[in-house]
Amino acid sequence: MIYLDHAATTPVPREVADAMYQVLAGEFGNPSSQYPMGLEMKKQVERWRETVAAALGCSGAELRFTSCGTEGDNWAIAAACWQNRHGGRHVVTTAVEHSAVLESCKWLERQGFTVTYIAPDAAGEIPAERVLEAVRPDTVLVSVMLVNNELGTVYPVAEIARGLRERNPKALLHTDAVQGFLKIPLEAKGLGADFITISAHKIGGPKGIGALYIGPRVRNPKPLLAGGSQEGGLRAGTEATAQIAGFAKAVELRTADLPEATARMADVKAYAREALSAVPDLELIGAGGAPHILAASLRGWPSQNIVNDLGAQDICISAGSACHQGKPSHVVAALGLPKRTAAGVIRLSFGPETTREDIDACVQALRRHHDSRMPML
Ligand code: PLP
Repeated sequence: MIYLDHAATTPVPREVADAMYQVLAGEFGNPSSQYPMGLEMKKQVERWRETVAAALGCSGAELRFTSCGTEGDNWAIAAACWQNRHGGRHVVTTAVEHSAVLESCKWLERQGFTVTYIAPDAAGEIPAERVLEAVRPDTVLVSVMLVNNELGTVYPVAEIARGLRERNPKALLHTDAVQGFLKIPLEAKGLGADFITISAHKIGGPKGIGALYIGPRVRNPKPLLAGGSQEGGLRAGTEATAQIAGFAKAVELRTADLPEATARMADVKAYAREALSAVPDLELIGAGGAPHILAASLRGWPSQNIVNDLGAQDICISAGSACHQGKPSHVVAALGLPKRTAAGVIRLSFGPETTREDIDACVQALRRHHDSRMPML
């Protein structure tokens, strides 16, 4: 199998699975239990928290484990609007956020909020000024992702943070960094966002575990789940200890050779951009500053057919986000591309283990797809 869909999810290395098994079968105690196995697990969770926090450039006390990136996004948005509930009912976000953010914003609209959605240009870029111009005195939250999951575009979150402090110091800033964490330089303190969402399964960790950075400007963050006093009383529910162990191990493995791994992904991406130019009617979509995501369009060839054809040959790519199966993606729609270009958008995404040979095989399959079929649009 040739797996070129690392933005959807990533394989779990043996060491991560082993760390999880150890917890599942051996050290299975509940961190809330008061006998040694439970007390030891509580300490262990704190050690794993420190590992993840260190990789994000924050303290363990500022990081709460969640069940996934989606939960982190939902929680940050709800907590920001709650903190500023007397300050206004306006939110600024982008038209290209993950649905975990967009659907939260649509829910806010149904509760009477006004949401401004900033559209990107045709290459997917959104300059900081465009976001800042939309901020009003009654803006309570700005939510802008760090790396777009379909295009690989990197958004200027640090610049938005600086501008927001001047324009409306009360407004809180959330960034969905699920595709940015351990892919591009990211340091919570330097970034200046009040909330940062991350997720384990994009970096070789298990599915079903994420974390939310909650910065010092957030006062008494409102929990999303009511219940026990886990996670400092902010996130109820027995800690997913095996998942947390796997998350920390994945972070440890990725950080051990981060510069080399990033360089390998960037090299594969540059190679792919070059190699894809050999496919007739293929157009690259944006430059996408992230090293692991490349978007392109086979103009006139519907993307779902391409994905199916390559899938039948054991080559896994995606037609935009895995969360939009079958439906045209809102990200591609926001680019305002010509219809034939928009319909043919595919995403290739890489991990540190992706090779140039993987790219060659994909490019050949795309050529065959092009040559063997009539365009349907
Ligand atoms: N945000 C972005 C940018 C993503 O790419 C994803 C997953 O595809 C998520 C949020 C959701 O993360 P999770 O799958 O952990 O809920």
